[in-house]
Amino acid sequence: MADQTKDNQAEPEKKKKIVIPGRPKKRLFISLLALTMVLASALLYGVWYIARPGLSEIAPVLPTVVGGIFAVIAVAAVLSLINMAFAVAGLCYLPFLRRQSYEFVNLLFPLAVQLGRPFGIGKRKLEGSFIAVSNLLFSRLGIRVPADRLLVVTPHCLQLATCPHKITRDPNNCKRCGGCDIGALVALSEEMGFHFFVATGGTLARQIVYKTRPKAVLAIACERDLMSGIQDVYPLPAVGVLNIRPNGPCYNTHVDMAEVRRQLERIIIPKGNE
Ligand code: SF4
Repeated sequence: MADQTKDNQAEPEKKKKIVIPGRPKKRLFISLLALTMVLASALLYGVWYIARPGLSEIAPVLPTVVGGIFAVIAVAAVLSLINMAFAVAGLCYLPFLRRQSYEFVNLLFPLAVQLGRPFGIGKRKLEGSFIAVSNLLFSRLGIRVPADRLLVVTPHCLQLATCPHKITRDPNNCKRCGGCDIGALVALSEEMGFHFFVATGGTLARQIVYKTRPKAVLAIACERDLMSGIQDVYPLPAVGVLNIRPNGPCYNTHVDMAEVRRQLERIIIPKGNE
């Protein structure tokens, strides 16, 4: 009997000091994106300039048509970047250009990563900066939803590795022993009324989104998963909270619960005001 009781309890994690990381710099992402855009425009111009004689041999109008298309792409990119920078700076911006901004970010992000390397800017740092920009755009749009239309998703690594309870299909199986942050999140979901799920990967996360049909998502994960997750659920607005990894990646991770609560209070419309 004593053994059975032991089986039902998670082994407590060896206490390690949990350091909450500093906030990533938003301007890092914007600056690198601006530089990438300048280089991409120069590249487009170079391609057009070299291809021009060949194009005019096919049809005299082709250089103008191709040049026009390239110019439209460059102008759209500039507008998206300016719009994003205005939003980040708290100035007047055009919310309808948000989609273009995301697509533009998707397109140029791999190039920005390559460009950041010689300056010693790692991919993770850049992803963190992207999330900060994305979160800011989310809050500038003033998106607020009723609690039952908000989905909170966390990765499996937030659960204590030695915990014997299966929480991926039903987080309510958590016994709230305090061994990890899952218990606090389950309690918070009960208190505030949002949907809470623990996903083992992108496929399950997408299934959960399909099933719960939220109007907004709050995701807790590492930079890489947040970056891809935010883009995966688009056009659904998503806000990301970075996990904390005192034990290395994907193992007994944590989250700043005060930050989660702060974000939730900003997104959820208080009962009675829906
Ligand atoms: S809080 Fe829940 S998930 Fe975490 S170790 Fe305890 S029982 Fe397991």
